Amino acid sequence: MVEKASKADKLSAIKGMNDILPSQSAHWEWFEETVRGVMATYGYRNIRTPIVEPTALFVRGTGDTTDIVEKEMYSFEDRLNGEHLTLRPENTPGVVRAAIEHNLTYEGGKRLFYMGPMFRHERPQRGRYRQFYQLGAEALGFSGSEVDAEAMVLVHQLFEKLGLKQFRVEMNSLGVPAERLAHRQALITYFEQHRNELDADAQRRLLTNPLRILDTKNPAMQDMVKAAPQLLSFLGESSLKHLDTVKGLLDACGVAWSVNPRLVRGLDYYSHTVFEFITDELGAQGTLCGGGRYDGLFEILGGKPTPAVGWGMGIERVLELLKTQSLLPAEPTPDAFAIIPHSDSLPVVMTTLQTLRAQGVCVQMHAAGAATSEGERMGSMKSQFKKADSSGARFALVFGADELAQGCVAIKALRGDPAQNQQRLVPLADAVRWAASLRQV
Ligand code: ATP
Ligand code: MG
Repeated sequence: MVEKASKADKLSAIKGMNDILPSQSAHWEWFEETVRGVMATYGYRNIRTPIVEPTALFVRGTGDTTDIVEKEMYSFEDRLNGEHLTLRPENTPGVVRAAIEHNLTYEGGKRLFYMGPMFRHERPQRGRYRQFYQLGAEALGFSGSEVDAEAMVLVHQLFEKLGLKQFRVEMNSLGVPAERLAHRQALITYFEQHRNELDADAQRRLLTNPLRILDTKNPAMQDMVKAAPQLLSFLGESSLKHLDTVKGLLDACGVAWSVNPRLVRGLDYYSHTVFEFITDELGAQGTLCGGGRYDGLFEILGGKPTPAVGWGMGIERVLELLKTQSLLPAEPTPDAFAIIPHSDSLPVVMTTLQTLRAQGVCVQMHAAGAATSEGERMGSMKSQFKKADSSGARFALVFGADELAQGCVAIKALRGDPAQNQQRLVPLADAVRWAASLRQV
C-alpha cells in the first residue's frame, strides 16, 4: 500500500540516510578532487554502474553467507515485471558484471575506480549508515603480486595527499581454494572442540562458512578465535611467495604493514592478498578501507577466468577521521560581494559581474526583496555591507550612484589590515583587466 503524507506532515530523511549539506559538501568535493588526481596518476579510469542491480548478482558475487547478503540488503521486486532487484550494497560485483558484459579486459588489464552511494540495512551509528559512500578501485586482468602492492601503495599515497595520519595497514593471505579447503577442515575440527564457546552466529557459520567466524566482533570469542588454526600455516610455496613479494614491494615504497593472520574480510570472493587500512580514532568503526585479490569472481559471475584486485573505502569514515585531525579545508568564500544601492543600476551591475565571472572571479550579488510600489527596495548600504562581511568575501564592489556616474565601481577590501586597504576606483569598461586582482591567489 502506498502511504500518503497529509499536507501538513513533516517529512524527514530515512533513518541512517544523511543529507550532505553545503557546509560539508566542500569537504566531499575536495576529497573527490584529490581522489581523481591520484587515480589519474596511477592510470585508473572512472566507471559508473547502476545503483540497482539484479539481486542474484550480490547473492552470487558477494556471497550468500556474508553479513551483507544474509541481512543487510535492500531488495525488492520490480512492481511491473516481478524482477528481483537490490540497491547495491557494494560495487565490486557491479564493476565485474560490467567488465564481463562489455568485454572490458579483452585487450588486456583495466584499472577502474568509482565513487558513489551504497546501501546496507545496518544499525545506524557513527561511521555506520544505511546509505553511505564508497570510493573503490578494481584492477582487472592482472595476476602479478605487484598489482596487489600497487593497490595498497595507491591508498597509502591518497591518505598522504589528504594529510591523514593515525592509520595502519594490516594484511593477510587467503591463499588459493585448495589451501583454504585444508584450513577449513582444520578450523571446523577446532571450532567443534570449542562448540560451547560459539555464539549463535558462529554456530550457524560453522557449517556454511567457518572462515567468517574468525571475523567475529564478539569479545567473548576473541581468545578462542586467536588460538584457532591459521590459514598462513596452510599456504604452499607459491602463495607464500606471492605474499612475500607484496611485503617486499610495500617496504620498498615506504608503506608500513603488519600481518594479521585473522584478517579474512567480510566478503567471500577473496584469494591471496587481503588488506585493511585501520584507525583506532573512530571506535568500533575503524576500518577505513578494505580489499584484496579476487581471482575467482569473474567465473562466479559467468565470465572467463580473470585475475583481479580491488578495494573499497568508506568516504564518511575518512572524512570523519580528517575532521578529528582538523585536516578538512575551510569553507569556500566568494572573492567579492557586490553592493548595489539602487535597483535601476542592476543591468550595468549584472553585466559587469558576468565579465568578472568569465575571468574566474567568484562574486556574490546582493539580492533584495521583491519590488514594492514604495520605490527603492535594495536595503541600506549598512545592511548590505553587513551581508558582504558575513559572506566571507575579501572585497566589496560598491556600485554606488557616484561611482557609476563616473563609469566606475569602487573596490573596498573587507579583510586584512584596514590601514593598507584603501578604497580604489576602477573603470567598468576595464573589468577584464582588474578582475585578476580580485581572485584568490
Ligand atoms: P565493517 O566491518 O565496518 O562492517 P565491512 O567489512 O562490512 O566493514 P566492506 O564491505 O569491506 O566493509 O566495505 C569497505 C568499507 O566501506 C569499510 O571499510 C568501511 O569504511 C565502509 N563501510 C562499510 N559499511 C559501512 C556503513 N554501513 N556505513 C559507512 N561506511 C561503511
Ligand atoms: Mg559490515
